[in-house]
Amino acid sequence: MKSNCFETKKMPAIGLLIFSFYLRRLINHIYMYRTHTCGELRLTNIGDKVMLCGWIQRIRNLGGMVFIDLRDRYGITQLVAQENIEEELAQTIHNLGREYVIKCEGVVIERASKNKRIPTGEIEVTINKIFVLNPSELPPFTIEDESDGGDELRMKYRYLDLRRNPVKEAMLLRHRIAQEVRKYLDSKDFLEVETPFLIKSTPEGARDFVVPSRMHPGEFYALPQSPQTFKQLLMVAGMDKYFQIVRCFRDEDLRADRQPEFTQVDCEMSFVDREQILNTFEGLTKHLLEKILSVTFSKPFQRITYNDALSLYGSDKPDLRFGMKITELTKLVKGAGFGVFDNAEYIGGICATSCSNYSRKQLDELVQFVQRPQVGGKGLVWVKLEEDGSIKSSVDKFFSGEKLLSWANFMEGNTGDLLLVMAGEKYPTLEALGLLRLELGSRLGLRPKNTFAPLWVVDFPLLEWDSETSRFYAKHHPFTSPITNDIHLFDTDPAAIRANAYDLVINGVEIGGGSIRIHDSTLQKKMFNTLGFSEKEAIEQFGFLLTAFKYGAPPHGGIALGFDRLCAVFGGSDSIRDYIAFPKNNAGRDIMINSPALISQVQLNELSISIKKSNT
Ligand code: ASP
Repeated sequence: MKSNCFETKKMPAIGLLIFSFYLRRLINHIYMYRTHTCGELRLTNIGDKVMLCGWIQRIRNLGGMVFIDLRDRYGITQLVAQENIEEELAQTIHNLGREYVIKCEGVVIERASKNKRIPTGEIEVTINKIFVLNPSELPPFTIEDESDGGDELRMKYRYLDLRRNPVKEAMLLRHRIAQEVRKYLDSKDFLEVETPFLIKSTPEGARDFVVPSRMHPGEFYALPQSPQTFKQLLMVAGMDKYFQIVRCFRDEDLRADRQPEFTQVDCEMSFVDREQILNTFEGLTKHLLEKILSVTFSKPFQRITYNDALSLYGSDKPDLRFGMKITELTKLVKGAGFGVFDNAEYIGGICATSCSNYSRKQLDELVQFVQRPQVGGKGLVWVKLEEDGSIKSSVDKFFSGEKLLSWANFMEGNTGDLLLVMAGEKYPTLEALGLLRLELGSRLGLRPKNTFAPLWVVDFPLLEWDSETSRFYAKHHPFTSPITNDIHLFDTDPAAIRANAYDLVINGVEIGGGSIRIHDSTLQKKMFNTLGFSEKEAIEQFGFLLTAFKYGAPPHGGIALGFDRLCAVFGGSDSIRDYIAFPKNNAGRDIMINSPALISQVQLNELSISIKKSNT
């Protein structure tokens, strides 16, 4: 009897379960928005009843049949309304417009003419019912891959711009890179720790953005230029390995492609030397290249000293996708009575392979290029090593063919090449040659976006002399450790001290930089001294860190990668803006929300702030 009793109870329970399952499905079906996304349906779904939601990309009316491209984040699906649909449905379709948000119910059918360019191109969905979830005004620009909207207009309506494929793809790429960064660093025992935004000045060399304190009238927070001091404190705290994908704020005059707020992958490690840090982040870079772009790098990244980078490539972030190194010619070419060379501190040149056939016009363009204010060159001497063995040059009057041939040999130039030579002060000339090298590299197609040339630049100078203020500044920041062998130079030749610092460069773009830190308070004092900080000033500004260092600071070092820039390089773009969801324009303005903006007198009063009237 007992078992019977059990069974009679079990039967209705199962029935109830099945009933509630179907009831829930029915309710879901009535109330749910979608069964699939617009990127999901394939031939295997033929015959399925589906519901899709999205934005109308395009409506085409072809001989009584209506085709709608319905778009969401995942893709585009074609909806089709046959000729013989009910009047009411036809009317609803007739009233639809671009960017309307709709829900469509229908059946998946095979397309007669397939579209191979999109993953859903083999099917379409019949429109059985359509619900307008929200109409849309006509957008101010076309939401197409190639939009007709200018930069400013698209930034004003950034939420519409983000609907466009290339911009959406940039966001997806950024997301994927962020996830891979987290995965890799987590696998290496890095701890993700958030550090505060309302802080005191950090020493990264730019101006701080400041935030007035209402509770402490006349006092200000500063927004972090980076979490530098906090990550060092986390090492003192014993966290061992820290990372954070974090926003940083720098009030700089905005040069091209800078943003006042930007994101860093910020990291710090304890008990490590330079080698371990470089290995860890070389590993991260390789991991990202492999996971995101399927680019495998088996060889270690090249390393080049700061001095070599400048003298061979005219830049501390050389693009190594191509050669065309700079050769110094100072000794070789001086003393021939050519004033431009004879009076120059430095003369150097590059050899453009197979460019001896450059026309007058092309050469003039190069001369104009080096004379641009951003490049700052005075002129350009050229030597053509013609195919027929003859030599033509812009300095024929001063140099014999034999002499010019000796330049060619020295620069490893061959028949068919073009030598380009500049003269002037050493570093500005090197920099100008570096820019000319990049220009030629671009013209000759030697900088393809899908080739990656990562490298480390090491042994930066610790200090930079500023002749205007007659003092040294830290090239990186004041906590950067000198190379141990150079510490003695503090007393004799501070400018010659090399920092235990490094930059990661990919394709001529500085992706990140960091250093081994000073963890010894005597050395830190020496550094502050050299930077012209009195002990009082050092304590005022960084007392908390100096105090912390008295309680057992481990040897430590770290790095920060510019995350927006990393995304741009991976995406093959020159602009970090494309990889930021809501970027500011070149004047540091968010033109969508109209910021910065005035605040009310009430707010100003609360903050004890009065605005000085400008005289202009
Ligand atoms: N805080 C430094 C920067 O933002 C990076 C570092 O030294 O780790 O450049």
